[in-house]
Amino acid sequence: MTLPDEQHVMNTFARIPVEFVRGKGMELYDASGKTYLDFLSGIGTVSLGHSNSLVNDAVYQQLKKLTHVSNFFYVEYRAELADRLIELFEEEGKVFFANSGAEAVEGALKLARKWGHERKPDADTIVTALGSFHGRTYGAMSATGQPERATDFAPVLPGFEYVPFNDIEALDATLGDDTVAFMLEIIQGESGVWPASQEYIDVVAKLCKERNVLLIIDEIQTGIHRTGKPFAFQHYGITPDIITSAKALGNGYPIGAVIARTEVADTFVPGDHGSTFGGSPLACAAALSTLIAFDAMALDGAIISEHVEAVGAYAQSKLAEIPYLTDIRGKGLMIGATLTDDAPLNAAQLRDALCEAGCIINAIGDKYIRLLPPLICKNVHIDALIEAIYAIMKAPREDIS
Ligand SMILES: *Cc1c(COP(=O)(O)O)cnc(C)c1O
Repeated sequence: MTLPDEQHVMNTFARIPVEFVRGKGMELYDASGKTYLDFLSGIGTVSLGHSNSLVNDAVYQQLKKLTHVSNFFYVEYRAELADRLIELFEEEGKVFFANSGAEAVEGALKLARKWGHERKPDADTIVTALGSFHGRTYGAMSATGQPERATDFAPVLPGFEYVPFNDIEALDATLGDDTVAFMLEIIQGESGVWPASQEYIDVVAKLCKERNVLLIIDEIQTGIHRTGKPFAFQHYGITPDIITSAKALGNGYPIGAVIARTEVADTFVPGDHGSTFGGSPLACAAALSTLIAFDAMALDGAIISEHVEAVGAYAQSKLAEIPYLTDIRGKGLMIGATLTDDAPLNAAQLRDALCEAGCIINAIGDKYIRLLPPLICKNVHIDALIEAIYAIMKAPREDIS
């Protein structure tokens, strides 16, 4: 099927030929009126659900007043948004606002490099993990630990080194006097939802501290309550120097953020870094209302963290009962699973069949599926997805009584 934009829009996404025209909460509606349950939420962005009225109203009210004035001026809501982000970060710190995840990563890389030049003059190298994903711009792509995906765009930026994920010995052998920072997704998202082990993160924190290496945690996908805590690093009991946020921060409105401990953040002075649009009045209104809505949220009587943890655990237990699905993993409502070799469909075919059946999920290659539903997702929605997977796989099931 050809789509109407193919002649004049660059071909960068392998798309599923469905056009959604409206959304509400967990539900999406296509042009024919068919209803879908959304277990992808715009790749983990629309975490409060589609058309959240609090965020919509805040954006609309701001739209009527003022959309943009540039960063030469103070912007309403920005202080309160930054205050709330620092409260969620749980360390004294400062925020830089960008427009996207990749742009937040770029900001974090620049901040780390300048901090290094001042504190550790021989250190240029930024170490990242194999299998990681940090974005599509040159710095972020060079940091991404999937070098094969950058070969068509060579040369990538110098000054990056990659270590196998969850490998303590490799990290110990790599972090040295020439290392300025180690950047990590604490749960690798784009490559299939792979959590770091507690043991690994304990060593990461210890080595970074001992060797004066900044620890950057890329929380663009894992952040803003996705895993049942404001940021996923908080499951591990560590204190990163810098984190990046984006995806769910504006409930679908584009905004990114670099959050750093004050001592690191103060490395930037006027002229070092900037953005024409970053942290605009509209973006700040969207993000502030998103954080307020999460705070105010009581789902089935539970606060957001309890709700996300309970529904995530329920989803994992139900997925684990399905034949052909194995290695169910993740935290909160960031869930991955592997299809067994004898499964009747591969991951992409399962995704397409589920779309046909009215459930939107993500497939990663032929082997993995990923779920990133809005965090308002309830057990009944999980039941509907599980039901649809059984029907498509024609899998025998034991739990029907
Ligand atoms: C999505 C993602 C990015 C890139 O974000 P964009 O907004 O697409 O630029 C970077 N890091 C992680 C961990 C991501 O999941």
